[in-house]
Amino acid sequence: MSSFPLIRSVESFIISIPRDVPYLGPLGPGERINERGYLVRQGNRSIYPASDMSVLVKITADDGTVGWGETYGIVAPDAVTSIIDDVLGPVIIGRDPRDAMVIQEDLYDLMRVRGFFGGYYVDSIAGVDIAVWDLFGKLLGQPLVKLLGGQRMASIPAYVSGLPRATLAQRVELAHEFRARGFDAFKYAAAVSQEGIVNEMRALREALGPDVKLMVDLHWKFTAQEAIQLIDQLTPWKPYFVEAPCQPEDIEGQAQVGAAIRVPLALGEEWRTVYEVRPRMERRAMSILQPEMGHTGVSQFMQIARMANAFHVKVIPHASIGIGIFQAASLHAAAALPNCPMHEYQHSVFDRNLRFVTTTMRCEGGMFHLPEGPGLGAEPSAEVWQYVRAKGSAR
Ligand code: MG
Repeated sequence: MSSFPLIRSVESFIISIPRDVPYLGPLGPGERINERGYLVRQGNRSIYPASDMSVLVKITADDGTVGWGETYGIVAPDAVTSIIDDVLGPVIIGRDPRDAMVIQEDLYDLMRVRGFFGGYYVDSIAGVDIAVWDLFGKLLGQPLVKLLGGQRMASIPAYVSGLPRATLAQRVELAHEFRARGFDAFKYAAAVSQEGIVNEMRALREALGPDVKLMVDLHWKFTAQEAIQLIDQLTPWKPYFVEAPCQPEDIEGQAQVGAAIRVPLALGEEWRTVYEVRPRMERRAMSILQPEMGHTGVSQFMQIARMANAFHVKVIPHASIGIGIFQAASLHAAAALPNCPMHEYQHSVFDRNLRFVTTTMRCEGGMFHLPEGPGLGAEPSAEVWQYVRAKGSAR
């Protein structure tokens, strides 16, 4: 029998951190925060919490060493913690954390016959998977990136994601502020482009000049032909990529857009496993894949990213709401890849939430700097625990 420390306990926590301005900017016409703390963005008909929501996973080994994971609990976080507390956690008690990828596969298998191929079930596995990898790294005294095939980068170029100001003029000004701080890549959100999606690309290009990279997130708003028409209008302003034009179920439409436009297409923040990515890869729908660590976990992220490399597709990871635990995991995974030119930088969340993690991880001068130390190199700080939300409660 192994004398290596085994998994002794698995715990989950819902974190809810108040924000002054909701994600994607101030409330627009017809938008309000409901009694459960959510708002629906009219621009993309999607629901968001008014606070920053997350689910943390704590896995403790026999010797007391703790691994941390994090996943999405943005909406209905109790669904995630129920799956972790009731299903996943008890199954992996006594497992060896060095078997991280095997554990992830075993957890995925548990619900396959019932058709749980994605959604909350796979998010929950992702949170557990990240914690198992963190524990593995800590018990070996090695940073996570060293366990993922080797380290290619110590820092990763960052692109500024979102310009959350009320008017186009203010958004251009915000981009200028980031430019002065060393950032040269910017993505805006079509969902809040009230002055027009093409106008915003043109205004940013004219203001920032030819040397910056400009991107737009189209938030799955268009049919294939509408997207092709729109992207043709954006093309003179030389986007570095356009993101998510069509609804995610529309595999054929995504492939049609990818084949018709003369701009790189980026897809994939909502896909969780190789099984979801594979059919899109086979259709050659995109040239940039955007895996989200909070949905995939480390094990699936690496398999997805290596598969993308086999298809000559670049990986520019998505990074959204979290206190910084899954962000740290995403940087480690990205740093191991041969096909990762940039990583998304959600500045409105990342910098503010750094106080909730103990880490050397930073995003400065246009670069993400990988956290130092074993495992993820990022742990929840003492400050986060005042924002734990009781399970079963609202807001
Ligand atoms: Mg997006």
